[in-house]
Amino acid sequence: MKILVVGSGGREHALSWKLAQSERVQAVFVAPGNGGTARDARLVNVEITDPAALADFVVAENIALTLVGPEAPLAAGIVNLFRARGLKIFGPTKEAAQLESSKDFAKAFMQRHGIPTAKYQSFSDAASAHAYVDANGAPIVIKADGLAAGKGVVVAMTLDEAHTAVDHMLSDNAFGDAGARIVVEEFLLGEEASFIVMCDGRNVLPLATSQDHKRLKDKDEGPNTGGMGAYSPAPIVTPSMHARVMREIINPTIQGMARDGIVFTGFLYAGLMIDSEGNPRTLEFNCRMGDPETQPIMARLKSDFLNVLDHACNGTLDAVELEWDRRTAVGVVMAAAGYPDSPRKGDVIDGIPAETPECVTFHAGTQLVGGSLQTSGGRVLCVVGLGDSVKMAQKQAYETVERIHFNGAQYRRDIGWRGLK
Ligand code: AMP
Repeated sequence: MKILVVGSGGREHALSWKLAQSERVQAVFVAPGNGGTARDARLVNVEITDPAALADFVVAENIALTLVGPEAPLAAGIVNLFRARGLKIFGPTKEAAQLESSKDFAKAFMQRHGIPTAKYQSFSDAASAHAYVDANGAPIVIKADGLAAGKGVVVAMTLDEAHTAVDHMLSDNAFGDAGARIVVEEFLLGEEASFIVMCDGRNVLPLATSQDHKRLKDKDEGPNTGGMGAYSPAPIVTPSMHARVMREIINPTIQGMARDGIVFTGFLYAGLMIDSEGNPRTLEFNCRMGDPETQPIMARLKSDFLNVLDHACNGTLDAVELEWDRRTAVGVVMAAAGYPDSPRKGDVIDGIPAETPECVTFHAGTQLVGGSLQTSGGRVLCVVGLGDSVKMAQKQAYETVERIHFNGAQYRRDIGWRGLK
């Protein structure tokens, strides 16, 4: 079978790397891919990003199945378009992807279906938003309604920060249409975890749990980023917590969507905040795999991922039992100089070692220029180490990170720290 993976990040490298291990796979195309997928002999980069042109490519190449990594093409309706042309694709329709593409939609949905989340109100008018902020006080959280590439959330610790964020989004139009409406919500305290499931429209199959590290610096300091590393499994999601999240959040979400007339297919990612009493609440939904969570999760998946996807597309996920590597996987992101504000491009990358059973390096913002591998985006690499404990997995990952060199590389030295507690 030929497969197409849509996207260019570390997530897509990890997905295509895993798919290429399947015996039934003849070729994995990655559109548009990156320097790492370009260098992997089992993968083929394709310079197409337009969904209609991708559908033409799928027909011309007789590609059996398409998997979409990022949110933007899903929100734009790539699944609707492929299905209308009779092409097999795994992901949510544009309607289902609203759980991620509109925070206002997601909050109203959660309220309507009794899914635990922070108290909120939506605004398109700045004066009313300012009044709500004053009435509720700080800390408080301001979110752009639409997709803002991970930059649309301000956790305001003071009233000043909150008012500035409201003005930035509503009066200065900082996010264009994506910020023409905002959600102002209660600040939640606790520990975050990423809970990702696959859904075939009827059945739900949970993947291994994980935890992301959003802040740039060690000890969760510095600005928010797309994610500086992730590890799996996340010890905070104990078996009883797992059962509770399925019962209180995941199942009611899938059933609620169905009641609202929307069949959910694809990955459903609930970003959780678990408070000190152990109550999980939903911070956000994503309708795709997380980046960087995908990298340690795929490194731990032992089952044939193509078989799993096949079942997901055929509505038979109930026949699948996933097998996981019992080891912990720690994924450390190496980011470019200047990330997250203005990542520098064009730095030469050296020293990436060959993959071993204990360590694999996934590429994100890399490109091949002539024969040379160079930085081409904010998050450059994600080095995933596997070990029998968080500490041993960290050791594997960091030994490799220290062998890799590019000017200005930034990385955290504490990925997985919550798992050490
Ligand atoms: P989101 O994209 O909605 O997950 O927000 C990005 C990050 O902002 C989350 O991973 C949290 O760290 C933080 N965040 C979002 N909503 C809240 C909230 N209600 N309380 C505290 N932190 C939040």
